[in-house]
Amino acid sequence: LDVATSAAIESEIAHVAQNYSPLPVVISRGEGAWVTDVEGKRYLDLLSAYSALNFGHGHPALLAVAREQLDRLTLTSRAYHNDCLGPFAAGLAELAGKDLVLPMNTGAEAVETGIKVARAWGYRVKGITADAAEIVVAGGNFHGRTTTIVGFSDDPVAHDDFGPYAPGFVSVPFGEIDAMEAAIGPQTAAVLIEPIQGEAGVIIPPEGYLRAVRELCTRHGVLFIADEIQAGLARVGTTFACQREGVVPDVYLLGKALGGGIVPLSAVVADRDVLGVLRPGEHGSTFGGNPLATAIGLRVVEMLQSGEFQERALALGEHLADGLRGLIGHGVTDVRIAGLWAGVDIDPAAGTGRQIAERLLARGVLAKDTHGQTLRIAPPLVVRATELDWAVEQLRVVLAG
Ligand code: PLP
Repeated sequence: LDVATSAAIESEIAHVAQNYSPLPVVISRGEGAWVTDVEGKRYLDLLSAYSALNFGHGHPALLAVAREQLDRLTLTSRAYHNDCLGPFAAGLAELAGKDLVLPMNTGAEAVETGIKVARAWGYRVKGITADAAEIVVAGGNFHGRTTTIVGFSDDPVAHDDFGPYAPGFVSVPFGEIDAMEAAIGPQTAAVLIEPIQGEAGVIIPPEGYLRAVRELCTRHGVLFIADEIQAGLARVGTTFACQREGVVPDVYLLGKALGGGIVPLSAVVADRDVLGVLRPGEHGSTFGGNPLATAIGLRVVEMLQSGEFQERALALGEHLADGLRGLIGHGVTDVRIAGLWAGVDIDPAAGTGRQIAERLLARGVLAKDTHGQTLRIAPPLVVRATELDWAVEQLRVVLAG
């Protein structure tokens, strides 16, 4: 490693808790789909901060609104009103076709909020027995890192040694509708799933699954909560991943790209009969709905309203799919792809996911492994087709050893 890189990594290791194992690259600039490290080397970013950078690094329209808002007002808390939250909520509600928005900051907070709302709805509207509400979740899920959420994760690394775990969650295999129906009872308040499981390796459920979940939830009077934090906001070629099956959940959980890759901004979006169950004082966040984040969020919503990014994700995704499928049998065992979001399973004979990611790094491509043998590919939606071709070529070379 170069001196500047190793010095930066050593300073991080000295004083930062080791809860990550980053690739050995130190980024200091970003523009569009590209980043530059402290040595001046450029890399194509195929991770996009787990889809938080759907619009790329430093999108000019987002930077402009952020700079303007920085000079004007950044934080009020919700003890007062501010002049950015209302327009943001109106725009996001319209985009989602729902009545109300509850702004938070991180994805995990949106999930926690969704859980609280579902339980309150369960007791106050559905009439579930006090403290008996259940939420059905799916195996292989990833919804965040808080103590409640890791309690219903089946990934030992996320889960183990962080108990005691919150009760009230029932896990069923992802994609199996009969198991979900069997798990639903009179105390079930909600079903909480990712329409496509990102961290699990871009796992796309069988065609018709989301429609069947919708039908099940409607029939049993259970809320359908879709965690679209990684899958939503244009990544898969539609504004929301549920739209791939023409499905509208009761509750959207949004985050990551909602803050334009500039600030943390998440939201719970639902109709008044659901989100309206919360009363003043029952939930909140000091930074949730702050003017800086919501000014940027409104611009994100406007960019999504144009449909441009959804179209790019679809077209570029087809292009990428052609390239990646050509690698099957050449170091790749399987490719799952939805819009511009791919899970690429690496043949163990070619190396581990981590080894492939490290070899790609040496060739100017940043991609992250997940669960050992899978490489997740989620470039910013501003990437060009020729750049994707180049990245696939680098992967081909790396897999060939
Ligand atoms: N939900 C999903 C589907 C995610 O992919 C993630 C993060 O990867 C989260 C929730 C948690 O978001 P955050 O890291 O912002 O808390």
